[in-house]
Amino acid sequence: MAHPEASPNLLQGFTGDDDDGVETEGVFMTDTPAHPGLISLQGIGKHYLLAGQHLSILNDVCLSIARGDSCGILGASGSGKSTLLNILGLLDLPNCGQYHFAGHDIFNATPDELAAIRNQQIGFVFQSFNLLPRLSALDNVALPLSYRGVSRHESVEQALRMLEQVGLADRAHHRPADLSGGQRQRVAIARALVGKPSVILADEPTGNLDSTTAQDIMDLLLALNREQQVTLIIVTHDPHIAERLDRKILVRNGVVQEAGRP
Ligand code: ADP
Ligand code: MG
Repeated sequence: MAHPEASPNLLQGFTGDDDDGVETEGVFMTDTPAHPGLISLQGIGKHYLLAGQHLSILNDVCLSIARGDSCGILGASGSGKSTLLNILGLLDLPNCGQYHFAGHDIFNATPDELAAIRNQQIGFVFQSFNLLPRLSALDNVALPLSYRGVSRHESVEQALRMLEQVGLADRAHHRPADLSGGQRQRVAIARALVGKPSVILADEPTGNLDSTTAQDIMDLLLALNREQQVTLIIVTHDPHIAERLDRKILVRNGVVQEAGRP
């Protein structure tokens, strides 16, 4: 990806200071004193009932993540990493425990409130991209902004800028089916970043990228973390990526434990 200047450009206007016409009013930014961290999980459990069988996926998960933390989530395939990330990203509700996100009690939030928090504060990169097949790369990236009520002109402009940052401006009008796996992944990353989220949750975000592109994407994410205190939570198998993150959270047999902590 030939965009050595990508980080500074990407960071431009990523402060949420509203000088770019993006509506950020009403964003749920206040941390209550009882839950000073950005993310607080207490006794979280997730299970499924499948064909009458009780499948326990996550047990008694306790985890605190502060604004500006960078965390890797590691574990064997099937250990529950995506389940944990989906819960953190408000895409899935746990069966028990307590979850506070930016001071919000997630169990007591309405679906509309959850959607607003997701739209305004969370950038999610799905393992399987989840791009809309009928929309161009540009429209996929612009979508979170149009959900926010940003004008078509403004959202397209910002989406194009974001596609430039991930080296895909020349593919803006391609549909996902006409892009390679790595290009789709970069569109998904651009869509996660375009709304200037305070948290980026990414499920194997570099899994389909060659090592140079993967490194560029990680450089961008880490620059956002370092310079804008964007919180990073990244599921990865790649030890080189995990090494670049401050915290390593291990998932094994439904138990979540932090490396280096009891
Ligand atoms: P990982 O991301 O670590 O590979 P997942 O979080 O995707 O693992 O899955 C953890 C476990 O939960 C797996 O055994 C998977 O089969 C199971 N699981 C995930 N989603 C469901 C579901 N909707 N119904 C039943 N079991 C599920
Ligand atoms: Mg997974």
